[in-house]
Amino acid sequence: MVETSSRDHNAEAVIGHGGALKIGVLALQGDFIEHIHMLKKLGVEAFEIRKASELEGLDGLIIPGGESTTIRKLIDLFGFVPGLRALANRGAALWGTCAGMIVIAKELTDPYPEPLGLIDIKVSRNWFGRQVDSFEGEFAFKGIDGGPFLAVFIRAPVVESFGDSVDVLARLEDNGKPVAVRSGNILATAFHPELTEDTRVHEYFVSMARQAAASKSTAGAS
Ligand code: GLN
Repeated sequence: MVETSSRDHNAEAVIGHGGALKIGVLALQGDFIEHIHMLKKLGVEAFEIRKASELEGLDGLIIPGGESTTIRKLIDLFGFVPGLRALANRGAALWGTCAGMIVIAKELTDPYPEPLGLIDIKVSRNWFGRQVDSFEGEFAFKGIDGGPFLAVFIRAPVVESFGDSVDVLARLEDNGKPVAVRSGNILATAFHPELTEDTRVHEYFVSMARQAAASKSTAGAS
């Protein structure tokens, strides 16, 4: 059943704007390969992005988990800042997981790294502390059917506060802190769906990218 519905999504993923959907994964540091594997499972063309020029023409980009200070330094070193801002501004889908969430936040409780300010959230790094620096839990995820989602947290952040534009998709059960949020074309999760067998959050992101692609082709036609 589940497989059939994934395939149906795949079929949709490759139509709608006169070409295959193109999704990139920022491949400077962290677990980008796991995201590529998930996207390929869904039948989506997935690209490792190592140069800023490769951002052009993408319908979606994932900034993976890893070490946010390192990823942020490499983003500067390889001149990615203008291209990332342009990608977010032109409405392409953007998803930050864990360190990626930290990088795209508007504000951090830590003095570093300097976040890019692409989504109106304030994020606390390493929020769970050393004792429970990795754990798994089941979460309801707004907009995703089929029962709770198994979330893997690894030295994860949480969202401490957020602006009006932000929709909370998943929260910690005990204290209600958001761990998945969306604002328009931008998605951020504190956990790592790419480390599970469950492709539903990736499918959710692919449908965001598909919407971005559809509005791009409408804009191009007018
Ligand atoms: N704790 C890491 C950081 O602050 C994020 C960990 C992760 O991406 N799994 O960058």
